[in-house]
Amino acid sequence: AESDGRPLPTTTTPHVLIFPFPAQGHITSMLNLAELLCLSNLRVTFLNSDYNHRRLLQFTSVQSRFAVYPELFYMLGIADGLPTDHPRSGEQILDLFESMRSVTKPLFKDLLLSIRPPLDCVISDGGLDFPLDVAGEVGIPVVHFRTIGASCFWTYFCIPDLIEAGELPIQGAGEEEMDRLITKVPGAEGFLRCRDLPSLCRGRDLSHSYLQGMVSATRLSSKAYALILNTFPDLEESSSSSSSLWEEDRTCLGWLNGQPPKSVLYVNFGSITVMKPDDIIEIWHGLINSKQRFLWVMRQGSVVAELGSNSNTSTFPEELVKGYPGEEHMVVSGWVPQKEVLDHGAVGGFLTHSGWNSTLETIVAGVPMICLPYFADQQVNSRFTSEVWKLGLDMKDACERKVVEKVVTELMVERREELGSRAARMAELARWSVGLDGSSGRNLEALIEDIRSMRR
Ligand code: UDP
Repeated sequence: AESDGRPLPTTTTPHVLIFPFPAQGHITSMLNLAELLCLSNLRVTFLNSDYNHRRLLQFTSVQSRFAVYPELFYMLGIADGLPTDHPRSGEQILDLFESMRSVTKPLFKDLLLSIRPPLDCVISDGGLDFPLDVAGEVGIPVVHFRTIGASCFWTYFCIPDLIEAGELPIQGAGEEEMDRLITKVPGAEGFLRCRDLPSLCRGRDLSHSYLQGMVSATRLSSKAYALILNTFPDLEESSSSSSSLWEEDRTCLGWLNGQPPKSVLYVNFGSITVMKPDDIIEIWHGLINSKQRFLWVMRQGSVVAELGSNSNTSTFPEELVKGYPGEEHMVVSGWVPQKEVLDHGAVGGFLTHSGWNSTLETIVAGVPMICLPYFADQQVNSRFTSEVWKLGLDMKDACERKVVEKVVTELMVERREELGSRAARMAELARWSVGLDGSSGRNLEALIEDIRSMRR
C-alpha cells in the first residue's frame, strides 16, 4: 500500500519516541531528526512539554511540514511541572531540570508503558538524565541526542578531572584568573581559558545541582545505546520556518533586499538570553559608532524589566531607535526566520550569543561571527569559533561600546576578506558532510539501520 507514492507503515515499521528538552534550540534540531527518520519510513512520536506543544501548534506550520507523513508522525504533550506564567528563559530555564525530574518523570514512565504501537526506541535529549533510567526500567533502548557541540560535550565530560586536578573552582572573577589556561580538557590545551568554560563553572559552588546534573547526564551517555552529536548541521535547508515557538516577522527580508551585498551585521541573541538594559545601550552605541548597517532582532521578554522581577516584558529602549531614524539599520522586536536571514546576500556578519544551533546555521550559511556568549555551552562555542575554527571574533565578558565598535569594524571592514573566505570554505565542508557520501550522511544511514534492528 502507498500514500502519495510513500509506503504506508506496516506492523514491522519501527516506532521511535523523540523527547527534547523544552527549549527552542533543542526542539528545532530534534524535529529535523524526526523528519529524517520519517523520510526513511520510521514511525515517530514527538514529545514536547504541554507548554511548547501548544505554542508549536499556534505559531508554526509544523503540521503541514509533516503532512506528507500522515501515518508516521505524531505529536504529544507532557507536563513540565512549572506554572504557566513561569518565564522559562534566562537562568530560570534551569528550573526545568528540577521540575521535570519530579513531575514529568513519573508521567513519562506511564506514557512509555501505554503508548501504541509499542516503542522500539527512545531518542531523548542527552541533557536530561531521567529518560535513560525510566526507559531502561521498561526495557526500551535509549539513544542520546546532544544539541550542544562536541567540544562542549567533551568539556562537560572532563569537569570531574578539572576538579580533581585543582583547575576548578575558578578563584574569583579577576582578569588574570579568568584568562588562566585549562590543561585538563584534552585537545583544548593552549586555548581554553577559565572564561571559556560552560557558564555553570563560574562561581565557587561546584556542588551546584545544575552543573552536577549536566556532568552526570553527559557521562551517562556512555550507558546509552548510542549517542548522536549534532555537529554537522542543517539536514534540511528549506524548512526553517516550521519549528518556531514564536510568530515569525518576515518584514526584515524586504528591508534586506534593499541593502548592498554583505553590508549588514545581523544581531540576535537567541530564544533564551535575557539581557541587561546597560548591555543593550553599549551594543547600540558601539554599532552606531562603527557606522555599519545592522539588523537587530530582540525577542519579546529578552530584556530584564527590573532586578528580581519574574516577568521580563520590556522591549528595545525606544529612545535609542528614535534618535537614529536612518536607512542603515532596522530594529525588529520579535522573531525572524533566522536561516533565511543568514542566507540573504546582504548579510555580511552575525553578532550572536553563540547558541549551538545559531553557530551551526551560521557556519552553513558561510557568514563570519562576532560572539557575545550569555551562558551554558556558549562560552565554549565562542572560543572554538574564534580560536580554533577562526570563523569570527570573541568579545565575551567585554560588553562595552568601544569593544563593540572595534570588533564590528574588524569583522565588517578590516578582516572582511580573510574571515569571509574562511567562512565560505567551512560552509562548503559542512554541505559536503551532509551529502550521501559525507560523514553525517553515512552516520545517519547507520543510525536508521540500527533502529530497524531494534524492532521487537
Ligand atoms: N531563531 C530564529 N529566529 C530568531 C531567533 C532565533 O529562527 O529571531 C532560531 C535560530 O535559528 C536557532 C534557534 O532559534 O535555530 C536558537 O537556538 P540556539 O541554539 O542558537 O540558541 P538558544 O536559543 O537555545 O539560546
